[in-house]
Amino acid sequence: VDGKERKPEWLKVKLSTGENYQELKRMMRSKTLHTVCEEARCPNIYECWANGTATFMILGDICTRACRFCAVKTGLPTELDLAEPERVAEAVQQMRVRHAVITSVARDDLKDGGAGIFAATIKAVRAKNPLTSVEVLIPDFMGNWDALQVVMDARPDILNHNIETVRRRSDRVRSKAKYDRTLELLKRAKEMQPDIPTKSSIMVGVGETYEEVKETMHDLRDHDVNILTIGQYLQPTKKHIKIEKYYTPEEFAEWKEYGMELGFSHVESGPLVRSSYHAHEQVKGHQKT
Ligand code: SF4
Ligand code: SF4
Repeated sequence: VDGKERKPEWLKVKLSTGENYQELKRMMRSKTLHTVCEEARCPNIYECWANGTATFMILGDICTRACRFCAVKTGLPTELDLAEPERVAEAVQQMRVRHAVITSVARDDLKDGGAGIFAATIKAVRAKNPLTSVEVLIPDFMGNWDALQVVMDARPDILNHNIETVRRRSDRVRSKAKYDRTLELLKRAKEMQPDIPTKSSIMVGVGETYEEVKETMHDLRDHDVNILTIGQYLQPTKKHIKIEKYYTPEEFAEWKEYGMELGFSHVESGPLVRSSYHAHEQVKGHQKT
């Protein structure tokens, strides 16, 4: 599959830039904060920001890894901004975010992988916004489980760590991450704080088979993961890994049904689904079950 001409109809999103959106964009600039919503040119940005969901990227915008699907710059990061947690908390307040997702680049240059700043951000957002739920989408900290413990002790509402792809494609698609280490992280997070829901995400269209996606769903359930998202990979630039396949909305719906049978408490599966899409509903959904 190549070129924009052949993008299926269901991936085209109508752009509607409301006033609110422009205002939020200006506020982000003034606080020198990064959002994944903007940097990844996420197609859901208008809907999410209007609904009070946003994904903040802390710890800078330069990553020590170079995953083949990801548009974030690779290099040696220099930023370690101890005032950042407070600025995120203020932005959450000004944007009236009801569900804040906090994520970061992989900071393999830091001893704790940035876990301390994650924990401080969870606490700062909470202190200023007691009604806002906080989800963290964390890197694997290179398997540093003490760092994971620091994050879990700050008690996020959801602990998210993406598996990204199926076992067979993992080494090719991701950089330095390991399929089994991801599963271990998710299992350990659940053991550390059994009442905090865990979540993961699969991106399809990078050379996996339909059945392999189901196998990965099994692996995640076997490691007590509660929430799953599945979405279509879209190539950010020509240099990134090629799109091997566009799945149909029907296929995504079948995975969702299959996931609910496996016992996930919530599955978001659709062409435009991203890790944090409809995430506020997942918090509510989980609390009900
Ligand atoms: Fe931002 Fe996530 Fe929503 Fe995309 S799906 S706009 S990255 S919160
Ligand atoms: Fe992108 Fe995360 Fe991979 Fe870094 S670790 S390249 S931010 S997906």
